Amino acid sequence: MNQRETEGTIIKGYSGFYYVLAGGRLHTCSLRGKFRLKGDDRVFLPGDRVRICVLEGDKGVIEAVLPRRNELLRPPVANVDQVLLVFALASPDPDFVLVDRLLVLAAHAGIRPVLVWNKADIAPPERVAQVQALYRDIGMDQFVLSARQGENLEGLKGLLEDRISVVAGPSGAGKSTLLNALAPGLSLKTGEVSAKIGRGRHTTRHVELIRLTSGALVADTPGFSTLYLPDIPVQDLPGFFPEMAPHLGGCRFTSCLHKTEPDCAVIKAVEAGQIHRQRYDHYLMFLNELIERERQAPKGR
Ligand code: GDP
Ligand code: ZN
Repeated sequence: MNQRETEGTIIKGYSGFYYVLAGGRLHTCSLRGKFRLKGDDRVFLPGDRVRICVLEGDKGVIEAVLPRRNELLRPPVANVDQVLLVFALASPDPDFVLVDRLLVLAAHAGIRPVLVWNKADIAPPERVAQVQALYRDIGMDQFVLSARQGENLEGLKGLLEDRISVVAGPSGAGKSTLLNALAPGLSLKTGEVSAKIGRGRHTTRHVELIRLTSGALVADTPGFSTLYLPDIPVQDLPGFFPEMAPHLGGCRFTSCLHKTEPDCAVIKAVEAGQIHRQRYDHYLMFLNELIERERQAPKGR
């Protein structure tokens, strides 16, 4: 028998088969019998790295699954390198509460966020300058582009190559248009990516990684369909606001939540213009959500 082993990435599981991308080729793989015992195909996720034995044609058998680096629940994808937070600069105007909420969700999931500001073609220049300054100051990777005009896509294309990405952002921001622009020939209907979560019709069982290029894999279902903050202990929330880090040691109380406490270094930094007030306001908003939740359901929810 002419068999050989190779390593690849699951891009989709369907009806007991897994489609594994290895060496630029797609293989239809079954599982070695030992895996079937678990009776749960969520044992394997798109994004999982597997070792397969290549049989004749494009067939193969999954011999082993390699350890995961991370695992996202919505959509269920393993080994996610980055989440693209896509927002329109105009029409609709960016919802900065949502931007900051998604930044917290991404950081909590341990996945690098990348801000994609779309519709640059219709954006007022001051808006572009505003968002760039705001998020550059907190060290975010960001791209300003126009998906529909196909403008300024090169930088983002480079970032997608050889990585697994998930796209998130409000409906109408241009997520489907962006994926189409990045992979001509893909032709998703616009609105399609968000429709999947918007109406909750699709179960997330059959999430698929789509190939924008041979090395760029993107989940076909948008990320973070819940905007509910994860259960972050209130004391940990400042850790999700990187601009607070240099100030945290300077508060009078070690238990300071930077809300109304006296001699709070974070509040002073806001007043001195070292922390953007808008970001701080969103911090307070999220903090109050978490405090309220702890009050209603103390411990072990
Ligand atoms: P999604 O809901 O995030 O998938 O958004 P769509 O891709 O469906 O886009 C929503 C609308 O915005 C559509 O009418 C698109 O044609 C439009 N759109 C997308 N990208 C751009 C862009 O770069 N510039 C402009 N002016 N419109 C865009
Ligand atoms: Zn403080």
